[in-house]
Amino acid sequence: MLSISVSQCRTSTCMDVSQQQFNRCREESIQDTQQQSIVPDDLLIALKFVFGSCALQALDLVDHHSVTCLSSPSGRKAFQVIGGSGRLYTCFASCHYCPCPAFAYSVLRRNDGLLCKHLLAIYLCEAVGGTLQESVSDQQMSALLSGTAAP
Ligand SMILES: [Zn+2]
Repeated sequence: MLSISVSQCRTSTCMDVSQQQFNRCREESIQDTQQQSIVPDDLLIALKFVFGSCALQALDLVDHHSVTCLSSPSGRKAFQVIGGSGRLYTCFASCHYCPCPAFAYSVLRRNDGLLCKHLLAIYLCEAVGGTLQESVSDQQMSALLSGTAAP
């Protein structure tokens, strides 16, 4: 059963609906014996309903542990996602930005998508506790944020 009705879609902003799904991921995902999160089927269907094919691609990235959260002593955070092609994208969840072509085209230019698969993978990984953690120095974070870090 889908948890979001058409009337809810009309009255909520799309990101509100998305946030509800991420909250459900956090609350309803259960840990199996290997300590991996299992997302209930109805929630997977709801994610597919809201995000379309992007949801499947993002879940694939989650399954492959492709999301790493970089944090520096100053408290700044950035996410790195290894895309399907092996390319590394540095994304900023705090300001909802990914440098990939799909984000530029679908989200920024055509405004017909909420997210790219990389950002969705970040939000899902954060919701199910699947994000890899890595500490970097403030200098490394500064280089990342300014786009001068080595790829
Ligand atoms: Zn992206």
